[in-house]
Amino acid sequence: MNTDKRKVVLIGTGMVGMSFAYALVNQGGICNELVLIDVNKERAMGEAMDLNHGLAFAKSNMRIYAGDYHDCKDADIIVIAAGVAQKEGETRLDLLQRNTEVFRSIITPVVKSGFDGIFLVATNPVDIMTRVTYELSRFGASRVIGTGTSLDTARLRYLLGDYFTVDPKNIHAYVMGEHGDSEFVPLSQVMFATKPVSSILEDDSNEYCLGDMEKIEEQVRTAAYKIIEAKRATYYGIGMAITRIVKAILGDENSVLTVSAKLCGEYNSKNVFIGVPCIIGRNGIKEIVELSLTDKEMEKFYASRDVLEENFNGINL
Ligand code: NAD
Repeated sequence: MNTDKRKVVLIGTGMVGMSFAYALVNQGGICNELVLIDVNKERAMGEAMDLNHGLAFAKSNMRIYAGDYHDCKDADIIVIAAGVAQKEGETRLDLLQRNTEVFRSIITPVVKSGFDGIFLVATNPVDIMTRVTYELSRFGASRVIGTGTSLDTARLRYLLGDYFTVDPKNIHAYVMGEHGDSEFVPLSQVMFATKPVSSILEDDSNEYCLGDMEKIEEQVRTAAYKIIEAKRATYYGIGMAITRIVKAILGDENSVLTVSAKLCGEYNSKNVFIGVPCIIGRNGIKEIVELSLTDKEMEKFYASRDVLEENFNGINL
């Protein structure tokens, strides 16, 4: 008997969902069963066919098929990338309410199937939709995860690596807070190898300066707007971020990733789901890593938290 079955169900086979599926197939070895579900059944079926036809070129074999909610029962992870687009003239809150209804139509049958794994949410506004998933599923908080600021953090490391001409893997830095306009970079936590970047910036003998850091932070914050302006949507980066989180869970890696997690007193906050560095392993969020932020950084954190709290309170659950 194969005891190493790692099964992922993807709900929402649009651009984001399928970018994730494509990265999953190409990276290989992360899971061996992938189920595609979408309200548009024909689309899910076509996507499954298309991916299956590439399997001969993939690193490892996988069972890929279009399924339904019964297939969630024995899944390890449910990835949700389903959502509706903003209509002309629609407010952000109206969109939020419509996406909440979409989530109700998803979470209810998933839970009813007997699913007992981990929810990973990518749908925007991701911090709120993750909290909606938590409220609707009534799963433990460690098993309800949002992609949070994982993509923003990758963007930050890429830009810092470029600025300091060093491999982004040797830059340690996080984007924290809402995945959105109120997110921020705690500069006190940015490390070049093990050297604090703040000390590099204070050193007048080099060309690096604080103003450039602020520009990089702004570039990270506005990256999605720029990409959407140029090509209408963003999907490859988030697809790879979802793949990274799934790999950390299924591989029981205990890796630190900035996901959207429910705070239970960390950062002097409770109940809100927000992007914070977390240790991710087989059971989801093992621990929320509490960084020693400066007073100014804590102010930014509280401001971001309050935006999320206000938005969540505006929805009719
Ligand atoms: P898309 O329109 O291409 O895909 C959405 C899919 O959801 C469609 O296939 C649609 O049929 C499906 N869907 C809608 N209602 C459904 C339901 N009730 N049940 C099942 N499936 C349903 O959109 P996209 O570009 O793939 O974006 C998906 C989501 O990801 C959006 O909310 C987007 O804002 C978000 N996103 C998040 C990040 C991030 O960093 N978290 C980055 C980019 C995009």
